[in-house]
Amino acid sequence: GAGRPSDEGVRDTNDDAQLSKLSCVRHGYFQDSFVHHFVRRPARRSPLINRGGTTVWCCLQCPAQPSSLPLAPKRQVVVLGAGYDTTYFQLASEGIYADKYIELDFRQARPLRLPLPSCGIAQAGRVVTDRYCLLPIDLREPSQLEAALEEAGLDPAAPTYVLSECVLVYLQPQHSREVVRWLAEHLECAAMVVYEQIQPHDAFGQQMLINLESRGCALLGIEATPTLEAHQQRFTDCGWHRAEAHTMDHVYSRCIDPQDKRRIERLEIFDEFEEWHLIQARL
Ligand code: SAM
Repeated sequence: GAGRPSDEGVRDTNDDAQLSKLSCVRHGYFQDSFVHHFVRRPARRSPLINRGGTTVWCCLQCPAQPSSLPLAPKRQVVVLGAGYDTTYFQLASEGIYADKYIELDFRQARPLRLPLPSCGIAQAGRVVTDRYCLLPIDLREPSQLEAALEEAGLDPAAPTYVLSECVLVYLQPQHSREVVRWLAEHLECAAMVVYEQIQPHDAFGQQMLINLESRGCALLGIEATPTLEAHQQRFTDCGWHRAEAHTMDHVYSRCIDPQDKRRIERLEIFDEFEEWHLIQARL
C-alpha cells in the first residue's frame, strides 16, 4: 500500500469531507448524484458547515468544469488527494468532459458500479481509462507522482487545471513544496487551485487544530503557511509565475454569484454569523 500506519487519521478526513458534501446535497445547496455512494451513515451537518461547504463547492467547481478551460486541443484536470470526490462523475452526467481527468490519492478505487468510460481497466484499486484515471499514490513521493501522471497519459504541454482541496495541509512543508515545485517544473500551461486552512496561531485557529488532532490527524503543513502572503509565496518560490490567495470571507462576499447567494441563504435558518466570519477568515 502507499500509506504508512500513522496516515490513517489523514485518510479518514476524506470520510468527513464526503459526509459534509452529502449534507449539502440533501439540504438542496448543490446537486451531486454520486456522493451518497461514498457515505455509510449520512448525518445532518450544521447550517454553518453546509454554507461553508457550498462556498468551497461554488468556487472550486466552476473553474473545475473542463468547459471553462481555455479552448485547446486538450484539456486536463489533475485532482491531488481527491478522496472520494465525485466531481468527475457529476460533470460526466451533465455531458461535460475533460480529455484527461486524473485523481490521485492514498485511497484505492472501490468496486462501485459508476458510469466509467469504456475501454478502461479497473484492477488492484486503480482505474485507468482514456479519459478518467484514479491512481493510488503517496504525494510525498515525487517519483510516484511522476509515474502516475505518465501512466495516465497526461500531456505536460496541454492546459491543465490542478485542484487540491484540503490536502497539502496534511503534508510536511518540505513535501508540499516538493509537489508544488514538481508541478511548476513539469507542466507547461497550468493553473492550480488550493483550498486549505490559514492563520492557525490565534485562539480560534488553535481550536480548529485541536478539533482535528482529536480525530487523529495533524495539519503538518500549516506551520509553514500561516498567512495568505506565505501561501502566495510558497507558489512563487516554487516556480509558479503568479499566485493569488484570498480568504473564504472574501470569496463569499466578492466571488459567488449573487443569485446563487440568495438561493443559498434561503435554504436554512442561519444565525451563526459571528462564528461564520471567524471560520471563513481562516480558510
Ligand atoms: N479532496 C477531497 C475532498 O475535498 O473531498 C478529500 C479531502 S480529505 C480532507 C484529504 C485527502 O488527502 C484524503 O483523501 C487523503 O487520503 C489524501 N491525502 C493526504 N495525504 C496524502 C498523501 N501523502 N498522498 C496521497 N493522498 C493524500
